[in-house]
Amino acid sequence: MHELGITQSIVEIALRTAAGQQAKKIHSVTLEIGSLAGVVAEALEFCYEACSKDSLLEGSRLIIEAVPAKARCRDCALDYPLTDLLACCPACDSASGDLICGEELRIKEMEID
Ligand SMILES: [Zn+2]
Repeated sequence: MHELGITQSIVEIALRTAAGQQAKKIHSVTLEIGSLAGVVAEALEFCYEACSKDSLLEGSRLIIEAVPAKARCRDCALDYPLTDLLACCPACDSASGDLICGEELRIKEMEID
């Protein structure tokens, strides 16, 4: 389950950020996860609880924001939602779209004291 490794690095980054800001308590961590990131949100939430135990993060809330994947067509410059990597441009049917977003996996914000 690779979610465990991902959660551990998220927890590490969150704790380092909190330490850098001399936080006494972390209330919540908001994550942005692209629909193509290949991560199961439920698994992440499950691992988060275990990984945050006995740290500043214990009891904090993990908020997960799903980011739908989008591509930009190279031929007509239209931005369109990408349901899968083989989707074509809805306007000109071109298959040469560039991924704009959808693979992100990052901490968007943290609520700390
Ligand atoms: Zn197009």
